[in-house]
This record gives sequence, C-alpha cells and structure tokens, in this order.
Amino acid sequence: MHPPFAGIYVCGPTVYGDPHLGHARPAITFDILYRYLKHLGFKVRYVRNITDVGHLEDEVAGEGEDKILKKARLEQLEPMEVVQFYINRYHYFIDKLNVLQPSIEPQASGHIIEQQLLIKELLNKGFAYEINGSVYFDLKKYNETFGYGKLSGRNIEDMLSNTRELEGQGEKRFPLDFALWKKADPSHLMHWPSLWSDGFPGWHLECSAMSRKYLGEQFDIHGGGMDLIFPHHECEIAQSTVANDKQPVRYWMHNNMITINGQKMAKSKGNFITLEELFEGKNVMLEKDFSPMTIRFYMLQAHYSSTLDFSNDALKAAEQGLNRLMKGLALLPKLKTSDVSTVDVISLQEKAYEAMSDDLNCPVLLGSLFEGVRIINAVKDGKELLTTGDLDVLSKLMQTFTYDILGLLPEENQNRSNEQLLDKLIDLLLQQRTEAKARKDYKASDHIRDQLAALGFVVKDTKKGTEWELNTENTK
Ligand code: ZN
Repeated sequence: MHPPFAGIYVCGPTVYGDPHLGHARPAITFDILYRYLKHLGFKVRYVRNITDVGHLEDEVAGEGEDKILKKARLEQLEPMEVVQFYINRYHYFIDKLNVLQPSIEPQASGHIIEQQLLIKELLNKGFAYEINGSVYFDLKKYNETFGYGKLSGRNIEDMLSNTRELEGQGEKRFPLDFALWKKADPSHLMHWPSLWSDGFPGWHLECSAMSRKYLGEQFDIHGGGMDLIFPHHECEIAQSTVANDKQPVRYWMHNNMITINGQKMAKSKGNFITLEELFEGKNVMLEKDFSPMTIRFYMLQAHYSSTLDFSNDALKAAEQGLNRLMKGLALLPKLKTSDVSTVDVISLQEKAYEAMSDDLNCPVLLGSLFEGVRIINAVKDGKELLTTGDLDVLSKLMQTFTYDILGLLPEENQNRSNEQLLDKLIDLLLQQRTEAKARKDYKASDHIRDQLAALGFVVKDTKKGTEWELNTENTK
C-alpha cells in the first residue's frame, strides 16, 4: 500500500431481493476494515458496487435469465424500479447495522461505456472474440499466457472435466470462455447499443471496469464473499491483467459464509433470513427478535475467514455479550482513581492493536475488550487500582475499539428496550381501562383515555380490541 492512501473495492449486492444475513457479513467485515484503516490514519477510498445488470442465474456457466429481469417480469415492474426499490431496502437495513456508507457506490448500468471500452481493449489485444453480436473472453489463450485459476487454486483441466457435457458451450469456442458482451434477444428489457449488437455486459466485466475507473489499474485491497472467488474474481483478474498488463489487486480478502445446520445460507437454497425478519423476529427459524447491534456483535465473534453458524443460542449469547460490554463501558466515567495502578493497561492496548493488525482478528480483539470489562468491574469493586492516566488509556481504548472500530453502538439497544417497556406500560394502562369499563366505571375509563390523549396517545376501540398509537406530530 502507499500510505496515506488506501483503495478498497468490494463486490456489493445484486439488487433483486431483500438484504439477508449473508449480505450483512461482507458489509460488516469490510466496514470494519474501512474503519480500522481510517483509524490508523489512512485516507481510504472505499468503492462498493451495486450489480444491476448482467448477473445471470447460472453464475458458473454464465447462462440463464438476468436475476433482476426475472424479478421485474414476475412483478411487472420496470427493471430500474426493481433496482431502485432494493437499493433503498439494502441501504435502510444495512444502515441499521451501523455500516458506514462507502466513498463511492457505482452501479454497473451507469458504467456501460467504461465496460465497452474494456471490451475493445481485450479485442485489440487478441484475448477476446466476437461471434453473432456477442463477445467472449478467450480463456484458453489467457491460460496459456498467464495461467488461470491461481486465486481459487483450480486448474483448467479439472474445471473442464467438471463442465457438464459441454452443455451451454453454444457459440463459444471453448466451454470455459465467458461473455464480455451478450447480444440481447428482442424480449430482453435492459440493453444498450454497441459496436457488436444491442446487448448487455457480462457480469464479471463491471468490477474490472469500475475498480479501474475509481481506484486505478492496480489497487490495494479487493474484498467480497468467498463464493465470488470462482468464477467471478478469477474472471475479473483475467480481464484486468490483460487490459492493464499487470495484476489488478495487491491483497484479496474473502469473507466466509454463514451456515444454517452446516449448509450455506443462500437465497437460492431458500434457507435465508432477511435482516428485517431478524430485527422483527418474524421467521420460523427465529425464537425472538434480535437488535441490529446484536447481529453486528454476533458477526464479530468469528474471524471473517471462518464460517459462522446461525442459531438462536448463538444470537442470544451475542446479545448477552454485547450487553456485558456496554455495561462495562457505561461504568467508565464513574470509576475512582488511585495513586498507583495494579493492572497493565498499556499492554492491553498493544494486544488490541495486534489483534486488528493480524488480519482483522475481531474475536481476539473482543477478548481484550472483555479483559477491559473485567478490569473496570474489579476497579469498581476496589479489587484493582488505576491511576488517572491509566484510566484515561483504558477509557480511550475501550471507547475507540468498541464504538469507532467495531462500530458497536449503545443507544440502539437502549432505545429498543425503552420502546418495549413503553409498549408494556401502555398495554397495562389499557388493561386497567378495559377492567374499569367492565365494571361500568366509565369515569375511570374515560379518565385513562383522556390522560393518554393529553400525552399524544390515540386510543381506538376496534372489533379486535383496543388499539393505540403515538401521535408523533403532537408530541414533537
Ligand atoms: Zn465483483
């Protein structure tokens, strides 16, 4: 890297459905990388794209219907309506997880010209060929020249033998060649004019084109889910290496998958939980709702390169862990200091930095933060002592790593439990009112209703029972 600048490119979502736990993991992983590099003083340009064209259902073969067009067809919407709707939903729910916005969030459909330019370069260099209005990458030639499959550790012979009976080779010269530009059939809703045909770009092309545009021909860190290593990132490397005459990426970082009972959580497998369902507790797999900060904390308990198994127990444990950490932090301003220290907070601080600089080892960092909580509690109970200077170090360490670097927030939980408490209190009052009515004490029941109204609570008697809502306009 070239301090003080750091460039990060992360493959973002294909926007044809609600964000789920599987989306939260890369969002949080690379958010922590972004936050940590900024904390270390880097000027970070973080680019996370939105895929809104060209991502076909069969990712390996590069065949099938475009995921967004399929959704648009099923719901009778313009493709860009689908895209906008799910971009908004993605932002709304990912924001709740306290994930910072990237510096640039480019959309594939907004970079068609850049992608076409890249295709021209690949054609000129003899690593692509046109057939019937479509353009394909010449993987055989690339493999002979540069070697394909280094990132995934696959070799082309194995890939070939795994390719199903050459099905889907179609017009391609070689079964593993992938599309750079596809001619659109007349029913295809998203297509652009080009030198070759009215068509659309191949899925892998956007990341080569947009990373180069915003981060240059060679940049520091490329991130994404492990499931993108093959074929997506292998194809990206192939395209960029030919176009730029150099390796595009200095460091690759891949987050592992979230599993349920050992199976990958995926929309295609139907075993996924959306973030909305998690926050509201509305999924048969959930025993209760879990706050955004609980989800964030849960993700930090495993190293990003390890799988993370979903279970209600794991989330409940995360809820307790987060609570314990926040309680410790809340005690910091109340601690009394002494003339001497009986604990070494400087070495705790060093350990925290070591953990994060060791490939973002968040589980080890959490260990240090909980050691901090132990010290805080011991100082409160008079079992350990801290000088003013050491308490400053400990406070700064705990707050910086918890809030700024891990991105955990206390307020969310606080607000949530206050809201739940409020719900229960109002329900209790309304129960009193119902009981008063039942014994025909209308003076008492009206009094409760009027007092609540004065506070802005609108009480309605419906066939289903008594309902209430807070009239926020009056109370603001
Ligand atoms: Zn990508």
